[in-house]
Amino acid sequence: MQRSATTRTGPSRPPNLFGMDREEIASALAPFTGRPYHASQVFHWMYGRLQTDLRDMTDLPAALRRGLSERFRVTWPEVKEIRRSADGSKKYVVALEDGGEIEAVYILYGARVTLCLSSQIGCPLACAFCLTGTMGLVRNLAPGEILGQIAVIARDNALAGTSYRVVFMGMGEPLLNLDAVMRAFRLMVDTKGFGLSPRRVTLSTAGLVPGIDRLARESPRPRLAISLGASRDVQRDDLMPINRRYDLDALIDACRRFPLGPREKVTFEYCLIDGVNDSDEDAFRLARRTRNLRAKVNIIPYNEAGVPGFKTPSAERAGRFRDLLL
Ligand code: SF4
Repeated sequence: MQRSATTRTGPSRPPNLFGMDREEIASALAPFTGRPYHASQVFHWMYGRLQTDLRDMTDLPAALRRGLSERFRVTWPEVKEIRRSADGSKKYVVALEDGGEIEAVYILYGARVTLCLSSQIGCPLACAFCLTGTMGLVRNLAPGEILGQIAVIARDNALAGTSYRVVFMGMGEPLLNLDAVMRAFRLMVDTKGFGLSPRRVTLSTAGLVPGIDRLARESPRPRLAISLGASRDVQRDDLMPINRRYDLDALIDACRRFPLGPREKVTFEYCLIDGVNDSDEDAFRLARRTRNLRAKVNIIPYNEAGVPGFKTPSAERAGRFRDLLL
């Protein structure tokens, strides 16, 4: 979806605490309270309880709440539009403070809920089948803009206290904004924050090998998924130009050296496109490529998004492709 990032002007607003980590909140609040635990309380209200009104953080002294609410705010991005699917999934168009727009998706699969988040406005990687890729990069998202996507969806769907998954698979390449993604991730998995298990957060990359190696050094870290999209280099060079820098051998090697925990696997997402990468030979090559790896392969039929020349394969074709992988 083509999105613009215009700049809104207007009176300057108080600093937004949403997106700050524990230390940043503590230093913002330090001039107004000598008690470090007040920062921990604000942290828990913002991320653990999704409270946006400082005056309603009721275990803080009333005078402090009043003072803080005059100097700070807790603001999430604004939901501009919700597009509903027949299966119960919902796409949220979210407006940011500078006028930029991103998308986040609430995905319902049976009883399982997954939130698909954006990490950038636009994307510089220009995958041929992706509408976001036609925009180029507008800018990276800040941690609060990443977490804000969870907050607005969690409130709209009463997710607080429930178990859900998060995947960085929306607009943008998360490994190109890894500092902000990891800062947001740490607040997601903080027990006083969003309280998610690290095992329930997955980062999906188009195949940025140095970024995969950097992610491997983080602890805790999200699980790794690779958007593969092709079974051979000549095909992947066309579909996903990042392959011209890091080819399939380099990418598979990076997955092989990625340190996995017990029972953890790398996920290969294979976007199946009619007449492009869905032949029997593609299935055999894909099986060979991913053999001997601790990995699972997810076949995702292409969701026609308006990019000319790319179509969803038939259910029979997708079924046969999956069967050939077994
Ligand atoms: S990396 Fe993802 S968001 Fe970027 S162009 Fe490719 S498919 Fe689209």
